[in-house]
Amino acid sequence: MLMKYPQLKINLASIQANTKTVVGWCHDRGIQVAGVTKLICGNPDIAAAFAAGGVDLLADSRIGNLKKLAAFNLQKMLLRIPMISQAEEIVKWSDMALISEPETVLALSEEAVRHKKIYRIILMIDLGDLREGIYHEAEIHQAVRRILKMPSIHLLGLGTNLTCYGGVKPERNNLAKLVRLKKTIEDTYRISLDVISGGNGSTLSLFPEDEVPEEINQLRVGSALTMGIGLNDEPINGLRQDAFLLAAEITEIREKPSIPVGEIGLDAFGVKPFFEDQGMRLRAICAIGRQDVHPDHLKPMDPGIRILGASSDHLILDITDASSSLKVGSVLEFRPAYGGILSAMTSEYVNKVFV
Ligand SMILES: *Cc1c(COP(=O)(O)O)cnc(C)c1O
Repeated sequence: MLMKYPQLKINLASIQANTKTVVGWCHDRGIQVAGVTKLICGNPDIAAAFAAGGVDLLADSRIGNLKKLAAFNLQKMLLRIPMISQAEEIVKWSDMALISEPETVLALSEEAVRHKKIYRIILMIDLGDLREGIYHEAEIHQAVRRILKMPSIHLLGLGTNLTCYGGVKPERNNLAKLVRLKKTIEDTYRISLDVISGGNGSTLSLFPEDEVPEEINQLRVGSALTMGIGLNDEPINGLRQDAFLLAAEITEIREKPSIPVGEIGLDAFGVKPFFEDQGMRLRAICAIGRQDVHPDHLKPMDPGIRILGASSDHLILDITDASSSLKVGSVLEFRPAYGGILSAMTSEYVNKVFV
């Protein structure tokens, strides 16, 4: 069965250009770039654009995605703190992981011994964003002492993640704490930690004012490469924001009232909808729904078109002020936000086309 629409159009040249630019900025500062493929579900074509743009390693939150990238001659990093139940696959399909639990490192150590492999660990420190990472300094030392005794495990360095749960911004101050910890650990245990992984793409926001401590030598960057956005999802100067377009086909165009006719109960998602009376309007339905993408994560390319809502399989639009004349079978284009790309990439019902 041929499925043409809905279609996610992906511009690989745009992604490669962004990657080259970001890698240039980072390498100038002695920072290596882990290209994060989780938004694009470990898609090998997009990973190839990352590789061509010069990323130093590939990173993903899911081990199944890294498995898809096995053919790339780049080290693979698992981003999401690992599940013990996946220890074997993790050791098999990745070279290093961000970790906060010594119990998990122990499980990886056992698998690494079995597979005669040295597995690398970046110990995650919570600087206040309150997602993953060890918060108390005494517990950080306990973890380091335990990990250093484990066979086939190499403690590669320290890392942190910000702006993801608590919304805490990267700053010279909080990153300096990571640097201080690194030095203390190196002195206390007479080891050297090669990597300080200073966060995700939001840390790029510190580049213009030169606010990244010079010891930070790795960033894990995803949406800046694919979407050209950074801190607070704002566009980054010098990067392109045009790599993704979602196209959907119109299946109905009818003039209808702007307020439903009849007594209003709950919609398909258990919410009582609210409507504003604008009289009769020309409405269109596109064959795409919440099973593919949440309507809040789409922006029509035609500013005259407004998204009214969506059920599981239907997107409902006001096209009264559309700038071109539309008919059934016409295709509308939307710029997807991060969440929109995430779900469109994940949905088997959305055709992915590279342009
Ligand atoms: C998603 C993720 C990243 C990349 O985030 P972007 O905002 O896309 O740059 C980096 N590190 C971790 C741990 C992540 O989960």
